[in-house]
Amino acid sequence: MQTPAVLSLGSNLPFRGMDSLRILRSACAALGERLRGLRVSPVYRTAPLFFTAQGDFLNLVCAGDWEGDAEGLLGFVQAVEAAFGRDRAGEIPKGPRTLDIDIALFGNEVISTEDLRVPHPGITGRAFVLVPLLELFPSARDPVSGKSYKSFLDCLPRDGVEWYAHGTGI
Ligand code: ADP
Ligand code: MG
Repeated sequence: MQTPAVLSLGSNLPFRGMDSLRILRSACAALGERLRGLRVSPVYRTAPLFFTAQGDFLNLVCAGDWEGDAEGLLGFVQAVEAAFGRDRAGEIPKGPRTLDIDIALFGNEVISTEDLRVPHPGITGRAFVLVPLLELFPSARDPVSGKSYKSFLDCLPRDGVEWYAHGTGI
């Protein structure tokens, strides 16, 4: 069975000569090999939120249909992160990273296990996820509260999230 999945990607470190924009676009190409009909939002530049002594992030959201369960998708996105130099063991939590891929939504499923929380708990408070998510799905709703993501975004400061580039290199 296929489930529409929405992923949130971020990068603020280069990897093997690739800058963050190239990492995000290449990661989307890799994700598109397993997620059918992948759609990619524009890229936004975002000031770091938690650990502020680091470079700006580039962020985007992409969405496609996944064959299998959410745990399988988590394994796949972690393999893509690793292919682009992600090294959790050697990094500061919320600090600089070559590639972070979070599962924002997995259909309308609500999952809460040790390894996986979906919808991702950060979505509703992060303009850098909501802005690109709403570009792809303007009327999307939070599966837990039923509230529109637009209504969450309307309560957040938008500064610090700037359009940067097209997501797919056009
Ligand atoms: P963060 O994204 O919070 O900065 P990490 O990328 O290092 O941190 O992820 C830490 C852990 O978060 C992962 O090992 C994964 O098991 C867990 N996790 C929980 N929910 C999700 C989700 N929706 N998407 C991706 N990872 C998740
Ligand atoms: Mg993550």
